[in-house]
Amino acid sequence: MATRTLCIKTFGCQMNVYDSARMADVLAPLGYGLTDDPSDADMVILNTCHIREKASEKVFSELGRLRRMREDREARGAGRMILGVAGCVAQAEGDHILDRAPFVDLVLGPQAYHRLPEMVARLSRAGDAQIDTEFPAEPKFDHLPAPGARGPAAFLAIQEGCDRFCTFCVVPYTRGAEYSRPVTDILDEARALVARGTLEITLLGQNVNAYHGAGPDGATWSLGRLIRALADIDGLARLRYTTSHPRDVDDDLIAAHAEVPTLMPFLHLPLQSGADRVLKAMNRGHTLADFRRVVARLRDARPDLALSSDFIVGFPGETDREFQDTLDAVDDIGFIQAYSFKYSARPGTPAAALPAQVPEPVKAERLARLQDLLNAQQVAFNRRCEGLDMDVLLDRIGKHPGQLVGRSPFMQPVHVMAPAPLQGTIQRVRIDQGQPNSLAGRLLPAEDDHPPAERATA
Ligand code: SAM
Ligand code: SF4
Repeated sequence: MATRTLCIKTFGCQMNVYDSARMADVLAPLGYGLTDDPSDADMVILNTCHIREKASEKVFSELGRLRRMREDREARGAGRMILGVAGCVAQAEGDHILDRAPFVDLVLGPQAYHRLPEMVARLSRAGDAQIDTEFPAEPKFDHLPAPGARGPAAFLAIQEGCDRFCTFCVVPYTRGAEYSRPVTDILDEARALVARGTLEITLLGQNVNAYHGAGPDGATWSLGRLIRALADIDGLARLRYTTSHPRDVDDDLIAAHAEVPTLMPFLHLPLQSGADRVLKAMNRGHTLADFRRVVARLRDARPDLALSSDFIVGFPGETDREFQDTLDAVDDIGFIQAYSFKYSARPGTPAAALPAQVPEPVKAERLARLQDLLNAQQVAFNRRCEGLDMDVLLDRIGKHPGQLVGRSPFMQPVHVMAPAPLQGTIQRVRIDQGQPNSLAGRLLPAEDDHPPAERATA
């Protein structure tokens, strides 16, 4: 029974979304139940992102607002609000957070959230701020309770940290060395999720396809082998994984795309740049031709596979010609969705010290051009889906009365008029309209003898 309220505001990647849910699991035995409203919460945790400067800076403006909310709440006599900063900004800045925001009570890195109950106990005993940014010898996963209910679609972290050291990226410093969870722990967590109603699991890792966990047979399992074992879980209808590195796509994983029907035909595969010199300066460890080869093999294995990607524009020294190489690569390979960013110099990373930083207006102009192209590809794909029948996992209530929203096999949001009890089920939907960021469709009767799944190819 919840006797106190906890609000966790999550910034950044899916791994942070997963970590936030796990922090809630860890605090539940202390009586904390989740609320979306920070103004009346007994504890508010900001789970932060350090990947770009803008993401980091958001934390401090948010902390200023929370401080005022806390004062109002205390003035109302509603009791103390504990304020915590978790995640990658906490890891990178440590006690410097308290220099800028001395009113914060808890600072904890991503490897420390299993120790939250201890930190809260020490805070209530001693009253002074608690900081934990250690990388523990024992992985935090060994200390976590079984997951609570997550809904029809859930994340499951199988790997954390990264040894790739791309020259622009803070992840190897904030999340530490690569660690793969043992297979048995992952299978147990997946079964627990399915038992609580989850139909779709997205396996997470900063470099998820570098997964090399200890199997129950004593062998080291690859991601491909893990996916096959997960696919055998009764009631688990869909699997995805993210984020992959093109260098770590191996034969076994490609074969899994061909052979495991529960593995969805959508893959996020970051390219970052279409210019080989830039890829080398980024330390990505592959060329554009290597990326194309991987994509061709994946598409051979699963012809309806659609891709999304990440791009950085304005990496130090990027010329107009090199930026054009990125546009050409996008044009040619085709992505149904993508994230693109202006390069942001991160303190302590090798690229931040490179000469020839690209001026802000040039980055802005390149980003706008790239996004125009990516958006056009997304719209074109969504339009090509019109008239197709798709299996849609109806996972949330829509904005309009009687509407549910789901996700297509390709991760497009799909709006459908459907009775509320269908939330949390997979339904056959005829797509009537492809919009810029979503699809609209109608439910097909359960026993409709509609033709077999038609496929939109990217
Ligand atoms: N592990 C993934 C990979 O191999 O590409 C990416 C992890 S990162 C959380 C997500 C994306 O943020 C990256 O793919 C990259 O495009 C972007 N990113 C990372 N560092 C950046 C930086 N310093 N400036 C701009 N974008 C950055
Ligand atoms: Fe960062 Fe991904 Fe490169 Fe690892 S592989 S350093 S997480 S961009």
